[in-house]
Amino acid sequence: MARRFVAGEGLDEALAASRVCNDHGMMVSLDYLGENVNSTADAQHSRDAYLEVFEKIAAQKLSANVSCKLTALGLDLSTEFCEGLVMSIVERAAAADNFLRVDMEGSEYTQRTIELVKRVRSQSPAIGTVIQAYLYRSEKDIQELLAYGCRIRLCKGAYKEAPEVAFEKKADVDGNYVRLTKLLLPSGFYHGIATHDPRMIAATIRCAVEHRISKEDFEFQMLYGVRTDLQRRLVRDGYRLRVYIPYGNDWFPYFMRRLAERPANVGFFIRNFFR
Ligand SMILES: Cc1cc2nc3c(=O)[nH]c(=O)nc-3n(C[C@H](O)[C@H](O)[C@H](O)COP(=O)(O)OP(=O)(O)OC[C@H]3O[C@@H](n4cnc5c(N)ncnc54)[C@H](O)[C@@H]3O)c2cc1C
Repeated sequence: MARRFVAGEGLDEALAASRVCNDHGMMVSLDYLGENVNSTADAQHSRDAYLEVFEKIAAQKLSANVSCKLTALGLDLSTEFCEGLVMSIVERAAAADNFLRVDMEGSEYTQRTIELVKRVRSQSPAIGTVIQAYLYRSEKDIQELLAYGCRIRLCKGAYKEAPEVAFEKKADVDGNYVRLTKLLLPSGFYHGIATHDPRMIAATIRCAVEHRISKEDFEFQMLYGVRTDLQRRLVRDGYRLRVYIPYGNDWFPYFMRRLAERPANVGFFIRNFFR
């Protein structure tokens, strides 16, 4: 079941999936799955995995960058230690003229993630991060990150959050998503609009047309295994599209988030399990 959303347990399977996407005119972001490591050795192992991905991307001439999670790089252990690992990955990315995207996790990590990304961004342009439209704080975070010239991926947000920090109703999240898109697109930096929601996509296209922003100046992003039809349609219409391809042994939490965000997936899962 997880195979629908995860390319495989090994890097080779993820690279093969990336090649298929590239052949269909799509760019890729490769994510070595893992989060909340308990030891510095595990964090260093994640760092090595990310370094290896950049090497393989260059060797195989793939159109791909890398996404990582700070808790896979030891954020729970020490911010300073984690930052050192991130810096070494960003240096490798910069040397290969590539880019590291720091995924955004639950809201207990938001402030630390933004602070760390700003510090690293002030030393290298090869890092960007993610903003979640469901958080009340996101508009302010975007303003701060833009002051650092930071490239942002905008998503709705995938974690269970309290009403003190996040919009609960889909209509409010969607409303904020459109507001934030209107801040990002005309900002002069290259951002990623990550959604499978046709209404968010239509609003993005309207905003780009209104501000005369060319199709080259932003990209849509979608998850591996989700709305492949829409991915292909956007490419056919001349938009830049990046597919987020996760791989690795530690696929369970990622898979559960994909099930949780769409109740229909749980029914699909149960039917196939019993079949
Ligand atoms: C490239 C990318 C990177 C992301 N990075 C992060 C991150 O760093 N942090 C974070 O919190 N979240 C991240 N997300 C997840 C995001 O926050 C949402 O949880 C997820 O994308 C669903 O929201 P949506 O915008 O597609 O809209 P929704 O309103 O949730 O969905 C719109 C439509 O998309 C389809 N769809 C959406 N999700 C699924 C699914 N799981 N299975 C099947 N169909 C589905 C359905 O057709 C649905 O009707 C990322 C998403 C993408 C695309």
